[in-house]
Amino acid sequence: MARRYAVIGAGVIGACLALRLAEAGAEVTLLDQDQPGQAATRWSFAWLNSNDKGPRAYHELNRAGLRAWATLAGQLDGAAWYRPAGNIEWAATVAGHRELAARVDRLASWDYPARMISAAEAAGLEPALRLPPDLPGAAWFPAEGYLLTGPLVSQLVEAAASRGVTVLAGPPGEVTGFAFGGGAVQAVRTAAGQQIPADVVVCCAGRWTPELARLAGGTAPVPLVPWQAPGAEAPGLVVRAGPAGPDGPARMLHAPGINLRPHTGGQVHLEALDAAVDLHTPDAGLRRWAAELLGRARRVTRGLDQAAVTGHQVCVRPMPADGQSIAGWLPGPRGVYLAVTHSGVTLAAHLSGLITTELVTGTAPDELRPYRPSRFLT
Ligand SMILES: Cc1cc2nc3c(=O)[nH]c(=O)nc-3n(C[C@H](O)[C@H](O)[C@H](O)COP(=O)(O)OP(=O)(O)OC[C@H]3O[C@@H](n4cnc5c(N)ncnc54)[C@H](O)[C@@H]3O)c2cc1C
Repeated sequence: MARRYAVIGAGVIGACLALRLAEAGAEVTLLDQDQPGQAATRWSFAWLNSNDKGPRAYHELNRAGLRAWATLAGQLDGAAWYRPAGNIEWAATVAGHRELAARVDRLASWDYPARMISAAEAAGLEPALRLPPDLPGAAWFPAEGYLLTGPLVSQLVEAAASRGVTVLAGPPGEVTGFAFGGGAVQAVRTAAGQQIPADVVVCCAGRWTPELARLAGGTAPVPLVPWQAPGAEAPGLVVRAGPAGPDGPARMLHAPGINLRPHTGGQVHLEALDAAVDLHTPDAGLRRWAAELLGRARRVTRGLDQAAVTGHQVCVRPMPADGQSIAGWLPGPRGVYLAVTHSGVTLAAHLSGLITTELVTGTAPDELRPYRPSRFLT
């Protein structure tokens, strides 16, 4: 077992991994260029699900993610961040309803908790709903839910620090280079001019992972869905609004044109797939979309009539180009491991356990085999 680990990135993936490694007895430094959890993790919809994820192995990986959070919630004050509230989805058209029912059938045939319910049952499960009178029904996913990533990351980092992890944030935690000896990594260099010795460096740097892989001399590309250029697909708009009244929503909701869930401080978190924004969209455009999303949310749920937009943010999904996770050794230098994925909130608790097993025992769990960075060599 390597002794000293440097984990770059204290988002949900890096924070979970630092804790798991420390629990396994490793000496760990967790580095972030910012305060922990301020990038994708902070703004994530954080929907815990394996709802429409394929192929089957990836579905099962995500499903194991749900189980791992349930276990961790019992060990790490889940009351502060774990919300297995279930998810209701409905469609606007007959064709959309048929597609939803077909997805529910497929998921149920994989033993995933999913069933079609009547509009009356949906209204009973979520009294806040304003459903169309002629709605033929909705889908109910009782095992899904969401995480409050702010309190979660605080708890993870605190628990990691209490197990001896050194946490470096800001310039002391910003990795600007790697030091190698004999073809193997020996240390990371930071913006504060320090060298942090490490036998293994794990890059959990979200959308910045390709940059770090290049800096480390990796010989395989780490292709992510583009996020920097105008029109890039990886950025998404997140809107927060409040206060939600006591009659507001209590579950995850996927309604036509709007996805929402409760958030901290009496707010709701809103997203819409058709909100066409990127990192270059002027603020006036973002504000227009934010108002549009709140209007859509009011049309499908009670409790938001007094709510105003409290914040909006364009944030970037770290999405590997083939839609699957990347977890494994970076081809090239010895000792550099990558962990970058979409659905990282769903996956982090389980994925970090698998990676810890690989790093600590030297044996790769079979579950990780489809996700190796080396698949991009060809
Ligand atoms: C709008 C949106 C909605 C989403 N919805 C869902 C969802 O419903 N369900 C789900 O499971 N997932 C969802 N995701 C995806 C999920 O949020 C991400 O997969 C997950 O947060 C990634 O976590 P991470 O730790 O890999 O990355 P991040 O949270 O981005 O963390 C990476 C960290 O690395 C640090 N870093 C980068 N470079 C350096 C460096 N050189 N030195 C030191 N530190 C560095 C950054 O500061 C950052 O803190 C969503 C994402 C977005 C943006």
